[in-house]
Order: sequence, then C-alpha cells, then structure tokens
Amino acid sequence: MSVVNYQVENGIGIIRANNPPVNALSQALRIGIQEAIKAAQSDDSEAIVIICEGRTFIAGADITEFGKPPLSPSLPQVVEEIEQSNKPVVAAIHGTALGGGLEVALSSHYRVALASAKVGLPEVKLGLLPGAGGTQRTPRLAGVKAALDLMTSGNPIGAKNAQAINLVDEIIDGDLLEGAVAFAKNLIATKAPIKRSGELSVADDNNNAEFFDGYRATLARRAKGQIAPQHIVSCVEAAANKALSDGLEVERNLFMECITSSQSAAMRHMFFAEREAAKVKDLPKDTPLREIKSVGIIGGGTMGGGIAMNFANVGIPVKLLEISDDALARGLGIIEKNYAISAKKGKLTEEQMQQCMSMVEGTTNYEDLGDVDLVIEAVFENINIKKEVFTKLDSVCKQGAILATNTSYQDVDQIAAVTKRPQDVIGLHFFSPANVMKLLEIVRGEKTADDVIATSMKIAKTIRKVPVLARVCYGFIGNRMLQPYFREAQLCLIEGSTPEKIDSVMENFGMAMGPIAVSDLAGIDIGYKARETLTDEEKGPAKCFCVSDSLVEMGRLGQKSGAGFYSYDPQTRQRVNDAAVMKVVEEQAQAQGISRRDINDEELLNRMTFGLINEGAKVLEEGIAQRPSDIDVVYIYGYGYPVSRGGPMHYADSVGLKTIYETICQYAKEFGEEFWQPSALLKQLAEEGKTFAQWGQEQ
Ligand code: NAD
Repeated sequence: MSVVNYQVENGIGIIRANNPPVNALSQALRIGIQEAIKAAQSDDSEAIVIICEGRTFIAGADITEFGKPPLSPSLPQVVEEIEQSNKPVVAAIHGTALGGGLEVALSSHYRVALASAKVGLPEVKLGLLPGAGGTQRTPRLAGVKAALDLMTSGNPIGAKNAQAINLVDEIIDGDLLEGAVAFAKNLIATKAPIKRSGELSVADDNNNAEFFDGYRATLARRAKGQIAPQHIVSCVEAAANKALSDGLEVERNLFMECITSSQSAAMRHMFFAEREAAKVKDLPKDTPLREIKSVGIIGGGTMGGGIAMNFANVGIPVKLLEISDDALARGLGIIEKNYAISAKKGKLTEEQMQQCMSMVEGTTNYEDLGDVDLVIEAVFENINIKKEVFTKLDSVCKQGAILATNTSYQDVDQIAAVTKRPQDVIGLHFFSPANVMKLLEIVRGEKTADDVIATSMKIAKTIRKVPVLARVCYGFIGNRMLQPYFREAQLCLIEGSTPEKIDSVMENFGMAMGPIAVSDLAGIDIGYKARETLTDEEKGPAKCFCVSDSLVEMGRLGQKSGAGFYSYDPQTRQRVNDAAVMKVVEEQAQAQGISRRDINDEELLNRMTFGLINEGAKVLEEGIAQRPSDIDVVYIYGYGYPVSRGGPMHYADSVGLKTIYETICQYAKEFGEEFWQPSALLKQLAEEGKTFAQWGQEQ
C-alpha cells in the first residue's frame, strides 16, 4: 500500500499522506509527495492540497533513518520541488506539523490549519537545526525574532499563534479538507499569486548585527555550550542578508556540522534513552494497572507540597496529612504561594489556580486516608518515623492501595516489612523542587508486586514525569552515584583547589551548578547531621568532610544562613569567594598532614566525573539500574547534567572505557584504594574494548 495517494477531485489535486502513526517523513513518503507534485504539474488540476490521514499532519523525520546513509530523494530536494510548483500548493494542517513536516508546509505556497493544530521546529532538542530550508523560510514569513524564538526553543506553538506570525494563512472551522479545497478554489478564483516563501525578503526591524549579537549572548547563557542554537542564529542571519540559495548553503553546512557533532549524538541518545527508560524489562506487557483516582500525601514540607501540586495539576484530588494544624497550615500556605507565583508569571489563570488549590484537602487524621488509591510518604528522612507512618498506613488504608515512600536513602524493604502488604510498597523518589523537576526514580522493593511497578510507571507519565526504575540500595541510582562525586570535590578542595575552581570546571563542562555550590544550596548541615548518627568507621576518612564540619560549626550552613563554602551577596544572592573559607581549608589540610598542591583542571574534571562513572558501573553490575542509558536519564533530568554530554555513561563511552579504567587504577595507587576501586564491569568492558551502550544492548 502506498503511503501517498494522489487524485484530482473537482479540479484540485489532493495529495494524501498516510503513513501511520504520525506520517513520519520516510523515504517512501518523500518519494510519494515528489511524484504527486510532478504529476500535478501536467494534469488538469488547478491547485494542489497536501493533507494527511490519521491523527496528525507530518510530525517529523523518520527516526529509523537516523544515523543511516541518506536515502534519496532528500527532504531539501522535495521541498524545493513543492516550492517550485507552477500551481498553487496549500498545506492543510491538523495535529502537529513538526520539523520536516513544517518545512513541507513552509515550502507550500499557503498554509491552512485547524485551530487545534500545532506547528514547531524542534530540531534543536536533538542538537540539530531545521535542515530543509526551515531556517531560511521561517524568518522570511515570520520575521527574525519570531523565527529565532521558534527554532531555538524547539517548542511548538498553536495554530492561532502561528497565524499571528504569518506561518498560517487561515484557520479552518469544521472539516479540514473541505476548508482547504475552498481556500484553494478561492485562490484560483481571485487569481492569487503563487507565494513562494523562499522568494520573500526578510522585513524586520530586528535585522541588524546588534540584535543578532544580543540573541547569541542570551542563548550562550540559556543553552550553555550548545552549538545548534548558535548555528540557528547564523542561519537566520544568512536568511536576512543573503539570497535563498546562499542561505540554504549556509544552512546545509551548519546542519552537517551539527549532525556530525558529539553534542547531537548525545542528545539523540537521550531521545531514545528517555523512551527506553519507561520500559520495565521483566514485566509482562499485559500487566494490569491499578486505578489511581485519589492520592494521600504524608508530610507537607519541601517535598510533600511539591508532590501534591503534581497531582492537583492533572486533576487528581490529594489529601495532605500533617502532624499538626500549624504544620498543615504552613504546608498548604506554601502550595498556595507556589501557585500564586505561577499565576503571577502568567502560567496559570486565577481560575486555574483556584481549581488546582481546590484539589488539595488538608487533614491531620489518618482515618481520612482510608479510601485513597495511592499514598506517598514525605516525612523527615528518619527510618523510625517512616516505619511508624507505614504501620499506621497499613492499619487505615484500603486493600490494594499503593503505599509509596519518597525517601532519598532509606531501605524500602525495611519500610515495607513493617506492613502486612509489602507487595504494595514502593519508592517514589521525587526531586526538589518536586513540582518542577522531571525525574521520578521508582524504587522496586524485594517484594513489590508487578502491577504496583506498572502502575507507578504509568502514574509518572500522568503527572508528566520521566520515570526510571531502580532497585534498593543506599541512595538508589542518583544519590548513590553522587557520593564519590561530592567526595572528590571535597578531597580536591583540601588537597589544593578552591571552591571556585572546582565549581567552574564542572560548570564549564556543562553542569547546571558545580558540586560545592550545590552543597551550599542544599545546606551543608544536612550531611553534618547525618554523620552525627554514624560510627567513626562508617564516616570514613576525616579529610573528606572536615572542612564541611568546620564550616557548619562556624554557623556557615550554606545559602540559607547567608554563607557556606561561599558568602552570598544579600541583595543579589550571588556567590562570592571568601578568604575565611580558604583559611579553614588550609588549617584543616595542615591538621590532616596534607601539603596542598596545584591541581589542574583536567585532574579536577576527571576525578569528579570518573568517580561518578565508576559508581554508575557498580550500579549496573549490581542490577540497581536496568540499563546504562537509564542512569543517563537520571542524571540529566534529576541532577542538572548537561544534555549535550548525554549523561555520565554516554560521556564515559565517548571518553573510552579503557582510558577511564586505567585512570582509575592510577588514582587507586596515587590517592588510595579506599577511594578508588574500579568496578568489575568497567574493568571487563575496558578489557573487551566495549562501550556501556554495547553492553546495554546485549543484556
Ligand atoms: P521537610 O522537613 O521539609 O518536611 C517534612 C514534613 O513532614 C514536615 O512538614 C513535618 O511536619 C512532616 N512530618 C514529620 N513527621 C510526620 C508524621 N509522622 N506525619 C505527618 N507529617 C510528618 O522534609 P523534605 O525535604 O520535604 O523531605 C521529606 C522526604 O523527602 C525525606 O524522606 C527526604 O529524604 C525526601 N527527599 C527530600 C528531597 C529534598 O531535596 N528536600 C529530595 C528528595 C527526597
């Protein structure tokens, strides 16, 4: 069956694409459109309509062609032929016209769309730029700024907004085909010109060097280190100042630079990694789901409030339980304040805000949780308090309710063991701020039932989170791997570096925030308090934490007390280097018998990133994570790891596992085996000359 059907109906040539599920631009679709356009040039049609069957207009490239040698005809060739048609071409858009799909529409002479349709050029999210004339035709139609906003954000816009920036000519009410045909007939009746967007010139006040420089600088901050957004600016600048053919050449060259870059490889890896992470290897496809129509949350602190918002936002009613009326009022107050901020920013209307707030009901009585389908506990990080809470939940919750803990470190199996229904207990580990961060680590216990896991994966999607499955260990995937990362940051500090150098190395690498600044943000006292409960042996060598402890004892708890490893400007909250901290570092180094030395950036970077990778390999060999790419998803969505590096395990593959393994062996000699024990899996793969990705595929 052909994916494109062409027929002349009442004088209009109708090109119908039908390539389910999303009319992706496969080779067959490109050939089909090309042949139909060719046929239409010499038949008795007077105008041409391109329309799609199914749920959407062409929603983008065919991802199965990614990374393969190009198949003819190329999309640039096809869109050129559409634009050069000697009869008017009308694209009729419903669903989403994305990427190459929108480029097909932009090369058509007119575009009509249903009001519900969306259009976008999301290539930047894969480290690419629109490569079939999108960077040249969009600014010619929409102007420089609107085109740049569309292409550098990658976010789709609705048909009405697209009409406002000239990307859509008419919104169709009712049947799209009828509307498009009527539009085409009107073009013929009024002898409307063939409007080739490639022949327009860019008319925009923003077409000047100052504007482009400013835009580049903004992007350099927003999309740190990413080349694709910067290249999009160069393409649009070319569109504004050059003939179409010259602009297309600029686009082609920069597109090739993007597609062969390690950044785009990393971002395409993440695209697939995110989809893979949603799959649970040992769960039958037909695992039944439990229905989640209401949720209870225990603890309305930093996490509980944010977790409640996730459910309220999608219309699932929440009962929030706190220890006292005061604590409850405080918790509800924080939620209300967060919504008010969103409303102020224009993200929510007053009415939507009230609607969300009405979804959250407070209580201090466990009996009120008797009928909820899912409970998420977010009380203090203390195993005894958590056990008490789960004992109560076990006595009040209905049979079949899922009982989840948001613990960061505690043993989910121990928590499950206090209930008579360990099969219903699971970890749902949200990240702070819980209403914003996309990651949800789902921690399956020893006895967690299949349908509880499957329902948890599903509910993550419902509340628009990215789920990653983990097994029980101290810190699960993400927080466990952080330990060597933070340890190395602290060791580098005492051995000779400074907070600023350590953070800037990681920030230049692309991390949203360096490890020392993160410690200040989270509060240095958290680790201090946790260590108070440990034996000396459990604490490990003093040089790993003596600086932190001294700072806490000086009252420097981090950002919340106005000073930690840095001081903070009270007005701007900017971090400022502080000589008092370096005095502490030097004193502590002396006390530990360490003679401080200069540590170069390469060593700083390798010690921190290889520490993370080595622990990631251990997480894999122990089966804590299902696959290497799941770890990448955890780090990108939960820890501010740069997407253009593809996550720690993808980064490891790009560096080479042999290099990493050998460096870690060297570190073991230099800094001690107590810190550096290479993972057995890393050693094996290094010796076999394999990558984590290859190993992941073999599992
Ligand atoms: P928090 O101190 O801000 O809030 C805890 C809340 O629980 C308080 O409001 C307290 O009144 C309430 N509470 C305590 N005991 C209770 C009980 N028996 N019944 C009902 N309510 C009770 O703590 P948080 O930062 O929101 O952390 C909560 C949990 O989430 C912890 O397990 C923590 O490890 C985990 N977590 C925290 C973060 C984070 O960044 N803060 C991130 C992920 C997970």
